[in-house]
Amino acid sequence: MKTYDIAVVGSGIGGSLISALNRDKDLILFERDKNLGGCASTFKKFGDLYNAGATTFVGYENNHPIKNIFDKVNFIPDIKKSEIAIRIMQNNKIVDRVKNFDIYLDNLNEIYPHKNNKLFWKTIKSIDEKFWNLKKLHFAKYSLNSYLKTTNSIFELFSVFGFDLLKSADKYIEEVLPNISKEYKAFIDAQLLITLQTTTKDISLLSLALGLSYPFHGVFYVNGGMGTLFDGILKDIDVHNKEEIIKVIKEQDSYRVL
Ligand SMILES: Cc1cc2nc3c(=O)[nH]c(=O)nc-3n(C[C@H](O)[C@H](O)[C@H](O)COP(=O)(O)OP(=O)(O)OC[C@H]3O[C@@H](n4cnc5c(N)ncnc54)[C@H](O)[C@@H]3O)c2cc1C
Repeated sequence: MKTYDIAVVGSGIGGSLISALNRDKDLILFERDKNLGGCASTFKKFGDLYNAGATTFVGYENNHPIKNIFDKVNFIPDIKKSEIAIRIMQNNKIVDRVKNFDIYLDNLNEIYPHKNNKLFWKTIKSIDEKFWNLKKLHFAKYSLNSYLKTTNSIFELFSVFGFDLLKSADKYIEEVLPNISKEYKAFIDAQLLITLQTTTKDISLLSLALGLSYPFHGVFYVNGGMGTLFDGILKDIDVHNKEEIIKVIKEQDSYRVL
């Protein structure tokens, strides 16, 4: 029986990045599918390439975790800037989510006017910026040390956001965008359904801000399809695709992977 320091199950962005970060160790990665990348994979059909899920690549900017990890593993993605992150169309009304705040606000004010639009979207953008500047973000429960790091992270969240952390998205909208039209609200929810798979009724103000702010970041297409990222990230990794792990058994000081 062969032993490894690390066995990774799944070549999604999570499994792939953790593999690349540990590529100096004796590591093996198993992927049950033919294509690498999971929800962000690309497949070929009748000669054309299709992204299985994820299509827009966000977070490739300085001080962002994605760029930091890509830099750490010396991988430069082949990407092309997308000027419009999302185009939202309702009843022949079009709003383009573009990175430039003033251009976006002008477009929004024309289609869904509200006296507090500027305040609402400035706050949303500012919460998002503060979040990505947090230094202690951590969530794990597998050891005392990880509990301590998680607690530290919660303290940092409270010190930056105060009691706004406990505020619900609906409450915030009620306060800042009173009497919002049904169509404007649907415009917000349509975007949250893409980024968070839910609407304002289930989320906090912080989630609302993160879910609505990704178009304020650089948004890119990956040339050749999102899945090509994984060929690059995993190029030095011992990858076994079309191999499904059916059981992981804990032994005395190791794990057996079947
Ligand atoms: C339709 C859709 C559109 C999206 N659009 C975007 C977007 O535009 N931009 C964006 O940033 N995000 C987008 N997302 C979200 C993003 O794709 C996912 O959050 C991310 O890819 C998830 O990565 P992951 O590593 O957590 O899991 P996954 O991608 O699910 O990876 C898990 C991998 O593990 C493998 N696996 C599972 N069990 C086993 C086993 N027992 N043995 C071997 N292998 C196993 C699976 O086959 C899979 O490859 C989208 C998601 C979907 C579904």
